Amino acid sequence: MDRIYRVMQDGETFYAVEQGGDLRRAVLRDGEIFGGYSPGAAVRGGLGAVKVLSPVRPRKIVCVGLNYKDHAAEVGKKLPPEPLLFFKPSTAVIDPGDPITLPPAVGRVDHEAELAVVISRRAHRVPGAKALDYILGATCLNDVTARDMQNKETQYTRCKSFDTFAPIGPCIATGFDLTPRAVEGWVNGGRRQASTTAQLIFPIDHLVEYITFVMTLEPGDVISTGTPSGVGPLRAGDVVTVKVEGVGELANPVRDE
Ligand code: MG
Repeated sequence: MDRIYRVMQDGETFYAVEQGGDLRRAVLRDGEIFGGYSPGAAVRGGLGAVKVLSPVRPRKIVCVGLNYKDHAAEVGKKLPPEPLLFFKPSTAVIDPGDPITLPPAVGRVDHEAELAVVISRRAHRVPGAKALDYILGATCLNDVTARDMQNKETQYTRCKSFDTFAPIGPCIATGFDLTPRAVEGWVNGGRRQASTTAQLIFPIDHLVEYITFVMTLEPGDVISTGTPSGVGPLRAGDVVTVKVEGVGELANPVRDE
């Protein structure tokens, strides 16, 4: 397993690969991380000497609502018979460490810790049994949600789409498989969400089949797989952290607009 980071150092943005604690520049085979890479020169100073960016700038982020049984129960909704899909716009993406901005007068805004997968190649009508062939790896995504707004409306476009409502990172962990992984959400050092992907209502191979029946996924597109129970409000001054086993930690401060 590699951890793929997109980083900035001395004003230059590039991909780097962590293998066994060593951070090396990724030499890209066709100019894109999705086309394959090999480790090159060591990155000066390692991870402590770079700004870590969101590992992809996806063209689309496909999210799944109500995909953990415990979360469906806490928001008082019935288990869906099929996956409930919605989008987050690419303009909502921010880097690890960048602030989540609370918009004025929208009421409660919640964290949603999620495991997301990054698509590696063009995917159209992919059967579940082949789904893993289309996944570059896993990352953390915080599906920040204007909860009061969500509860007033029948669809999710407004409440999920504010600028800064899609922190992604810190890296892409390759070698993804369907082994259950821990997914956690923390606020200011207190654990608010703790579950594993064993609790998913619709597993990730099924989601790839379900989504690509409708739309073609392209390299760099992201599927965010839903959040477990324990969602809660964010306030200015908080630091919210999403942890996914095998990936790492995505931490962002929160501030008022
Ligand atoms: Mg969500």
